[in-house]
Amino acid sequence: MKTHDVPTITLHNGKRIPQLGFGTLSVPPDRNPTPSNTAKTAEVVGLALACGYRHVDTAQMYGNERGVGRAIAESGVPREELWITSKLGNGQHRPEDVRRSFDETLSKLGLQYLDLFLIHWPLPTLYDGDYVSTWKAMTELLADGRLRAAGVSNFQPGHLDRIMAETGVVPVVNQIEVHPYFRNDSVRKATRRHGIAIEAWSPLGQGHLLSDPVITEIASGLGKTVAQIILRWHIQHGHIVFPKSMHRERIEENLSIFDFELSDREEAAIDSLDKGEAGRIGPNPDTFAWVPSESTPTPVAPR
Ligand code: NAD
Repeated sequence: MKTHDVPTITLHNGKRIPQLGFGTLSVPPDRNPTPSNTAKTAEVVGLALACGYRHVDTAQMYGNERGVGRAIAESGVPREELWITSKLGNGQHRPEDVRRSFDETLSKLGLQYLDLFLIHWPLPTLYDGDYVSTWKAMTELLADGRLRAAGVSNFQPGHLDRIMAETGVVPVVNQIEVHPYFRNDSVRKATRRHGIAIEAWSPLGQGHLLSDPVITEIASGLGKTVAQIILRWHIQHGHIVFPKSMHRERIEENLSIFDFELSDREEAAIDSLDKGEAGRIGPNPDTFAWVPSESTPTPVAPR
């Protein structure tokens, strides 16, 4: 796999993001930033970089930014070839915490600048419902060049409308749950309408989709794996994806999806697997209200 085989998506601020990256939720599984977990993260992310990934998706709440940073430092890949995304922790929504925790993120990652920083969850039932001040603080980070782009994650259409109406600043991406069992059409449509790119989280449905008979049949017809078919479906829908795996062969396999195409019929067959709300795996952003406690960083966090 050659790095340049991965297409880029041009965001509304003109920056180009690799359409396929590497996800790091549960790398390591328990999100506890112990030295051995940091070493494990560095090893797995290092493997992904060696395989040709140039885009890594992490988050403050994953407890692995140090490991991601170590992998970047040890990889020898020039910084300008990399796209690194992190996300604001649910306990950091107050504007002063946005600024402080962003500094900590840069320091843990060992970077001078971050390519993309997202509000991880809108938490509309916490912080007096004020995710607008949080968004404003995120956008202010753009001023000194240490943040290149600001976006959101898990924002519903009403949340998007409100931050744009009250600040005038349009996020570059909305990172939301999307996979063939949960197309999330209404949020995708609202996101696209504003020129915001869609990042599809849990693109493989965290493994739940891997035995689907329709996708399995398409995969065997094309001589590809089920994971490759699902990822290709995302690519053809224009989604930015970052599947997660800790195994070399899967990490390589997930990157090798640019030498074939799904026909319109195959794409439509996968489209038809949508189960609506019943297909959702993660929490509903309208009600999700979880904040990690300081003593236990994130061991039981859903996402
Ligand atoms: P995913 O859909 O990427 O699935 C990961 C699981 O699929 C792994 O545990 C692995 O067992 C399996 N898998 C991966 N490649 C495979 C292959 N080729 N063959 C067979 N099995 C394979 O799930 P995810 O990790 O939840 O999502 C991807 C990334 O999205 C995360 O790592 C994280 O970076 C991001 N994410 C963001 C949010 C958010 O709220 N913003 C939520 C969840 C995930």
